[in-house]
Amino acid sequence: MKIHEYLSKQIFASHGIPIPRGKVAARAAEARQIAEELGGYVVIKSQVLVGGRGKAGGIKLAKNPDETYDLAGNILNMEIKGLPVRKVLVDEAADIQHEIYLGITNDRSEAKPVIIASAAGGMEIEEVARQTPEKIIKIHIDPLLELQDYHTHDLAAGIGLPREYWLSFGRICQGLWKAYRDKDATLAEINPLVITGGHELLALDGKIILDDNALWRHPELAVLRDLDLETQVETTAREHGLSFIKLDGNIGCMVNGAGLAMATMDMIQLFGAEPANFLDIGGGADAPMVTTALHLILSDPNVKAVLINIFGGITRCDEVAKGILAALEEVQPKVPIVIRLVGTNAEEGRLMLANAHMITAETLVQAAQKAVAVAKS
Ligand code: GDP
Ligand code: MN
Repeated sequence: MKIHEYLSKQIFASHGIPIPRGKVAARAAEARQIAEELGGYVVIKSQVLVGGRGKAGGIKLAKNPDETYDLAGNILNMEIKGLPVRKVLVDEAADIQHEIYLGITNDRSEAKPVIIASAAGGMEIEEVARQTPEKIIKIHIDPLLELQDYHTHDLAAGIGLPREYWLSFGRICQGLWKAYRDKDATLAEINPLVITGGHELLALDGKIILDDNALWRHPELAVLRDLDLETQVETTAREHGLSFIKLDGNIGCMVNGAGLAMATMDMIQLFGAEPANFLDIGGGADAPMVTTALHLILSDPNVKAVLINIFGGITRCDEVAKGILAALEEVQPKVPIVIRLVGTNAEEGRLMLANAHMITAETLVQAAQKAVAVAKS
């Protein structure tokens, strides 16, 4: 889960990282008020969860409160990469001498977090990574040893940071590491970390991505989820405890278990079609969950057939059948449904479905073949 810049920077600040003074506003008049409080130059920054806001015109400098009012009004009317701007951050403008990149993420191949820095920070960091990767310094962090001063010294030396900044750079690295570790983040990034005209380091931008699987440990962060980023279908799925991922094919899938869901998708492809979604209804799904799942699948206009593949273990086949019958009554689907039920109470389940005009199949191969055939006809 991504969280907004202003929240990321508040988390950084709580770990001792220096950030500019500033506040968020949802209306131009509020932005002017903040600019008055801050005095002097301010920077107005769109709060949307995409990168490259600067290049998209979502970040502007203003000399005074009136200009802040005008620019904030413009930015609040913008859409950046398809996302509406609902808030702007108004920060005291910084006198930038130099832009550094600093970030921590997981390096899966090393199975360790890695701290990354570059003296060539700012908006072109992706270009730097592509064209001059040697300008990017990486140091792996053993989670048991944690981040040590010798790491941050190596990092500072590696990017050629003048000695006078090493102490504060070390503290910022430590703060970033603690934020990353304590919040169960998969990314904590400051780009740019700037050297100001007053010879200080200041985190001008902040980005944190949280590990969704650890969000239950951070209920105060879970509520910050920005619903603009999700489609309605994804929101509904998450709220009902279903893992749903929309894909581009035309065969909707409802399966219990992620492994079986992937096998089912492979089987559809093997027979020449594409799945419309990944959906794991999980172990122990009950009738209402199945109803919701079928609603989600059928809300996609691309879907030409539905393939239901249930291996009844904890999930009982009669419960699934009950859910399907309830859903059929509610949604009246116009596409054929192919179903394969095996396992606990499969007989009962099949009996219940016998009169519901569904195409049944004994094996996964047969089910996939039938689904592909009906989707094509
Ligand atoms: P991003 O483009 O979404 O990563 O947004 P950033 O917050 O990184 O801002 C993009 C660029 O705007 C930065 O690299 C800076 O060059 C510039 N910028 C941001 N804040 C300030 C500021 O306070 N003063 C000045 N002069 N430039 C700023
Ligand atoms: Mn940035």
